[in-house]
Amino acid sequence: MILRIEKIGLSIEADDELLNSLVEKGKSHYPNEFGGFLVGYYADDNKHLHITDTILPKSFKTSIYNFERSTKGIEKKLGTFYKEIPRKFYVGEWHTHPDNSPIPSLTDISAINAIINNKNACLANPVLLIIGNSKTKVDFGFYVWFENKLYRYE
Ligand SMILES: [Zn+2]
Repeated sequence: MILRIEKIGLSIEADDELLNSLVEKGKSHYPNEFGGFLVGYYADDNKHLHITDTILPKSFKTSIYNFERSTKGIEKKLGTFYKEIPRKFYVGEWHTHPDNSPIPSLTDISAINAIINNKNACLANPVLLIIGNSKTKVDFGFYVWFENKLYRYE
């Protein structure tokens, strides 16, 4: 799927195969939340982001309303993506909202702020993918942090 935000001129692309695998991983933790890191690369003068892979956290805390991942070991995994052609980077995060809409919670917003303020991450426009999953349907909400605001891809 390819999504755009006309207002800020950004587009995002994610392969169905990847999205399906995230949905499956999310399902295996239902009714608790689950998630991980998103990996991809920028093209077209940094205006187009292709999300290609996920890295799952080695340890995490989860409940029906909350998900906290550890970043332990992800640097090493990112290192192997960085050696690929094209070079791939950490571009954002994803998590599920079981039986709920894919709208960011206050916790999600503060988690994004923590990413922005983490000087090691060097990530100016992190992407947040929320998957609203229930037993019968799946909704994707793609967001990007751009100039101090969270925009949703439609
Ligand atoms: Zn959330």
